[in-house]
Amino acid sequence: MLYSAPSFTRPAQCGTLYTSYGTNNMTINAILQARAGAKCELCSAEQALTAFVVPHSPASDDDHSVAICDTCRGQLEQPDTLVVNHWRCLSDSMWSQVPAVQVMAWRQLKALSGKGEVWAQDLLDMMYMEDEAKAWAEAGIADEDDDSVPTVDSNGAVLQEGDSVTLIKDLDVKGAGFTAKRGTLVKGIRLTNNPLHIEGKVNGVQIVLVAAYLKKA
Ligand SMILES: [Zn+2]
Repeated sequence: MLYSAPSFTRPAQCGTLYTSYGTNNMTINAILQARAGAKCELCSAEQALTAFVVPHSPASDDDHSVAICDTCRGQLEQPDTLVVNHWRCLSDSMWSQVPAVQVMAWRQLKALSGKGEVWAQDLLDMMYMEDEAKAWAEAGIADEDDDSVPTVDSNGAVLQEGDSVTLIKDLDVKGAGFTAKRGTLVKGIRLTNNPLHIEGKVNGVQIVLVAAYLKKA
């Protein structure tokens, strides 16, 4: 599945913690940071990490996210930029005790094996996963034909038709001449063709809102 390239400007970094908005790209929190131990959970790079919600997950909490570096993220989001040798790192990370990491490793090895990388298939053959993690990993592969990307809010929570959301920042509504204030509740949202946008009524006007500036209510 494809994710659109993050088209945001990253705010100033503060150690390895920073906030950024964009699809599937959320603030890394202390729990994930502690679990990752300041190293990318996939390639062990000691770089700034961001939380990446494992696609096709039953939830978008820490248990279903991995803390990864920009190199891994870039290649996951843009599979056409994949550098095969970078993913040799999976021979270590596939042994992680964290199911989310196992799922990411399994799917990436599967993708590499599909490209004819024999070593990746060898690793897959050795890999051990609990049934639950295996089913989760396979859910991603089964849905591969369906290239619909979920619409997610600023926390990575999946938004559904009819949900209520609140704005997490003031937004100028172009053309309508007002500012939608931070904290405004928008009920009964509608999804659009673009996973980055939803539609909702603010001040009685139906407007398009950027999902990354919303929080599920
Ligand atoms: Zn990495």
